[in-house]
Formats: sequence, structure tokens, C-alpha cells
Amino acid sequence: SIVVTAATGQLGSLVIDELLTRVPADQVVAVVRDAEKAAGIAARGVELRIADYGDPAALATAFRPGDTVLLISGLDPERVHQHKSVIDAAKEAGVARLAYTGVLGGPEADFDLAADHKATEQAILDSGLSYTFLRNGWYNENYTAQLPVQLEHGVVGATGEGRIGSASRLDFAAAAAVVLTGEGHEKKAYELNGDVGWSLEEYAAEVSKQSGKTVAYNNVPAEALVGILSQAGVPERFAGILANVDQAIERGLLAGRGSDLSRLIGRPTTPIADSIAAALKG
Ligand code: NDP
Repeated sequence: SIVVTAATGQLGSLVIDELLTRVPADQVVAVVRDAEKAAGIAARGVELRIADYGDPAALATAFRPGDTVLLISGLDPERVHQHKSVIDAAKEAGVARLAYTGVLGGPEADFDLAADHKATEQAILDSGLSYTFLRNGWYNENYTAQLPVQLEHGVVGATGEGRIGSASRLDFAAAAAVVLTGEGHEKKAYELNGDVGWSLEEYAAEVSKQSGKTVAYNNVPAEALVGILSQAGVPERFAGILANVDQAIERGLLAGRGSDLSRLIGRPTTPIADSIAAALKG
């Protein structure tokens, strides 16, 4: 079977959608931690297996010999430990291949958020399992989900003139489905990003153009951004991580690394302007 973890998340549910356009439902399995949240997935004929990344006993029943598994990265501070539990369970079960959603640049990404992804990729390499690394760049939706706030207060960041080679969640989900259902992806690392990068200045200009409201980009030092985000209710640890990401963007680390994504999905990636339009429509 093709097994997708975190299938009830935003990316995971799109991966399930994309898989079901390519293979029959009885070939797809969703590993979720909340069966109720996954009722809609089960209703489409997809088998559910229940396991939290933090529960090795449950993970021991999540995989079967020969499965092709997508491990979608978690969100907990101790997620490396959890990912290792998933890798151990996959190895024990004898899965055919483990795909993992890491971060653009892989071992070359030197910002804080990338450390967990590097450690997870290394654990997969150490396991000896066949693998595919899906090194995802930023989602368009990381920005467009903030539109209501941006329309009110403008866009704030510490990215300078750095460019962001983002793509839509759906683009990344389609790439995952291609890699899970196709041949020739063993032991490959794909650097996945949008075809066209943009700066936050350009983003603000596009939001202004489409909304008819003047939205400015306010570039601030990283330390100031931590303060602004914390005051807006973002937990301080996470505010620090976001400011650190912005500094990486300024250094060009999320601008993009070629065209693996559009090549895999067989079409151009979704421009940020299209995601802004979709978000403005609600
Ligand atoms: P979501 O927040 O929508 O989904 C996260 C998923 O992870 C959920 O399905 C959640 O399960 C699952 N999950 C979290 N912790 C555990 C756990 N301990 N055990 C089992 N499942 C767990 O995020 P997205 O779908 O948008 O993104 C997918 C992943 O990509 C994120 O988890 C994060 O690692 C990363 N990410 C990447 C971004 C980028 O721009 N490249 C931006 C944001 C996140 P449940 O449904 O039960 O809550």
C-alpha cells in the first residue's frame, strides 16, 4: 500500500486527494492519530491506521512489508525523536521505501528550523531504508493565511530584499503523490520550490494591487521582529524561529534551487499572485 502519515493535516489531506486521482482507494492507507478527524478520509475507502508519532507501540502496527510510506514532518519540539520512532517502525515492518518532507537545501540549510529535518534525513540514511527526500521550500499559504492581518497592519518581516521561491501546498502535495506512485525515485533528494521567487516588498505590492488597499512592507531587524510577533501573541520560541527563517531568506536560502517541483508535477508551480487571489476570495 501507499501509506501517508499526518493525513488529517493540511498537506496530508491534499496528498490523499492527489493519490486518489492516481490509484484506487484500496491501495491507500492513512496513518492518523485521531480517527474522528479522519472520518472523511475513511468514507472515501481509504484504510485508517491509528498511531501518534510519540507512541512506538501503535507505530508497530502502522506499516506492512512492502508499503511505500510518506512521513510528513511533525510539529512538536521533540519531533526528531518522534520521527525516529516512525523510521524504526518502518524499518521493523520492512517497508519498501520511506519518503520524508524535509526542508529546501537539506544538509546545506543552516537555519534553526532546518536542524530537525537534517537529523531526520540522517536517521533515514542510517536506517538503510530506501528513501525519497522531498525537501520542501516555503508554502505560499504561509503568507496568504496572514492576509487579514496584512490588510490591517501591513506586511512585517526581516527578509530585506531576499527572495522566496514558494509554491502552493497543493503543488507540494502533487509532487509527493508523483513520487509515491511512480518509479525511479529511490535514493533521490528533490529540492522543491516555486518556479518564480518574490520579495516581501513585491508581495505587499501585489496584495495592494489585488485588494485595492495600500499595503506596505515594513522591513525590521530580526530582534525587533521577535518582539513584534511576541506582542501579537506568537510564543517567543516560535517567534525566534520565524525571525531566524527571515534572516535565512535574506541570505537567499529559500529563494529556490532549480525546477524539480514543476518537473515532477508536470506543470508550472502556482504563482504567489494566484494564491493571493484565492485567499482574497476566501
Ligand atoms: P498541519 O499543521 O496542517 O498538519 C500537521 C500534521 O502533523 C497534522 O496532521 C498532525 O496531526 C500531524 N502531527 C503532528 N504531530 C503529530 C504526532 N505527534 N503524531 C502524529 N501526527 C502528528 O501542517 P501542514 O500539513 O501544513 O504541514 C505539514 C508539515 O510540514 C508540518 O507538520 C511541518 O512539519 C511542515 N511545515 C512546512 C511548512 C513549509 O512552508 N514548508 C509550513 C508549515 C509546516 P493532527 O491532524 O492529528 O493534528
